[in-house]
Amino acid sequence: MTKVFDVAIIGSGPAGASAAFELAKNGISTVIIEKETLPRYKTCGGGFAYRGRRKMPFDVSSVVEKEFFRVDAFFEKIGVHVVSERKEPIISMVMRDDFDNFLVEKAKEHGITLLENHKLKNITFEDNITLHTTQGDVKTKFVIAADGALSTTAKLTGWEETRLLIPALEYEVEVHPEDFKRLSKSVRLDFDAIPMGYGWCFPKKNHLSIGLASFRRVKVDFKKLYRDYMENILGITEVINEEMHGFQIPVTPRTDGCVRKGVFLVGDAAGFADPLTAEGISNAIFSGIMAAEAIVESELDQQIAEENYNTKLNETLIPELKTGVRLSKLFYENEKIRNFLIKKYGDRICEVMTQILMGERTYPADISKQIKKKLRKAIFS
Ligand SMILES: Cc1cc2nc3c(=O)[nH]c(=O)nc-3n(C[C@H](O)[C@H](O)[C@H](O)COP(=O)(O)OP(=O)(O)OC[C@H]3O[C@@H](n4cnc5c(N)ncnc54)[C@H](O)[C@@H]3O)c2cc1C
Repeated sequence: MTKVFDVAIIGSGPAGASAAFELAKNGISTVIIEKETLPRYKTCGGGFAYRGRRKMPFDVSSVVEKEFFRVDAFFEKIGVHVVSERKEPIISMVMRDDFDNFLVEKAKEHGITLLENHKLKNITFEDNITLHTTQGDVKTKFVIAADGALSTTAKLTGWEETRLLIPALEYEVEVHPEDFKRLSKSVRLDFDAIPMGYGWCFPKKNHLSIGLASFRRVKVDFKKLYRDYMENILGITEVINEEMHGFQIPVTPRTDGCVRKGVFLVGDAAGFADPLTAEGISNAIFSGIMAAEAIVESELDQQIAEENYNTKLNETLIPELKTGVRLSKLFYENEKIRNFLIKKYGDRICEVMTQILMGERTYPADISKQIKKKLRKAIFS
C-alpha cells in the first residue's frame, strides 16, 4: 500500500534529521527515507563546529566524544604555527553514526516515520509527488533532498551538476598509546600536507580520524600523501588498526537554484559545505531547518514555500558561501599570496576563522576589497 505524507525527506544525515525535527515539532506529517540501516557509518572527520552546535535545538553532549577549546594550524613550508583558543569548544568531535542517529531519534520523539533500508530509485511528478523506493512507493506534497553529495533526488528532478565536488580521504586510525596521548591534546590542521588543501588530525575517544582534502581537482597520490603526513608530519610510529574511507565534498553551492517542483535541496545535495574549510555539518543543519521552516510558514502552499526558502537562503547562506568561494580561490590557488598573507597576518586570519567557526561572525562581505587593500599597502609601503 502506498504511504502518504505531507513531507518526505530523502536521507537521514544532519540535514535530513534537522529538517524532520523542525517539521514534526510543528505537527507536519513527515517521513525520512534512508537507504541504509541506522546507525550507519558516514565518511567524515566528525569535527562539529561550535557555530552549528550553539544553534542546536537540543543538547548533543551525549554523542560528543571530545571537545576542543584549542585549534592548531600549521603552514610547514613557511614555518608558521598559529593557535586559537576559546572558553567554549571550537570543535566538538562526533562519530557520525552515533551523532546522526541521535538527531533522528530526537525527530522520532516528535512522531516522524523512519523508513530505513529504503533506497530512492525514481520520482514521478503528478498532482502529488510519488517517490519510488526499493521497498514500495511514498506519496507526498513536498520533498526535502538531504541525500548528500551524490544526491539521486537532485538528478531525478532534473538538476545539472554545477557544484564543485572535491575529493577527500579519511582514515580511522588506532595508534600506539604514546602517539595517541601526544596527538589527542588538540585539533590540528596542516595546510602543506597536500597541494591546494589541508590535512587534519581529529582525536576521537580512542582513535584518530586523519584525513586529507584537496580543494581543487588536482592529480595527487592521496595514499602516498597520507603516509607522508602520518609519518613525517604527525610522527606516528605505530599503526595498530586503520580503516580507509574516501568520498567527495561539494564546496560550492549550485548555481541553478536549490528548489523546484516541490523539491528542496539541503546540505551537501545543495552544495552547502564551507568553501574554505569543507565543514559541512553546520550548514547541513541550518539549511535543513530553513527548508522545514519555509514549508511550515507556507501552510503547505508549494509556491509560497519555494519563495520562502529562496528568501531565507538569499538572506543568509548564499551570500556567505559566495564570499567563501572567493576566499577559497585566493587561499588555495595562489600559494605565494597565501603564504605572504599568513606570514604577515597569520594570527589575525586565524582569529577571524575562529570567530567564523564559533558563529560569532560570518565571512565579511567586502573581504576581497579588504585583502586587495592590504596587499597594495604591503607592496607599496
Ligand atoms: C572525508 C570527509 C571529511 C569531512 N569532515 C567534516 C568535518 O570534520 N566536519 C564537518 O562539518 N563536515 C565534514 N565533512 C562534510 C560533511 O560530512 C557533510 O557536509 C555532511 O555530512 C552533509 O550532511 P547531509 O545531511 O547533507 O548529507 P549526508 O550526511 O551525506 O547524509 C545523506 C544521507 O542520505 C542517504 N541517501 C543517499 N542516497 C539515498 C537514496 N537514494 N535513498 C535514500 N537515502 C539516501 C545516505 O545514506 C545518508 O544517510 C567531511 C566530508 C568528508 C567526505
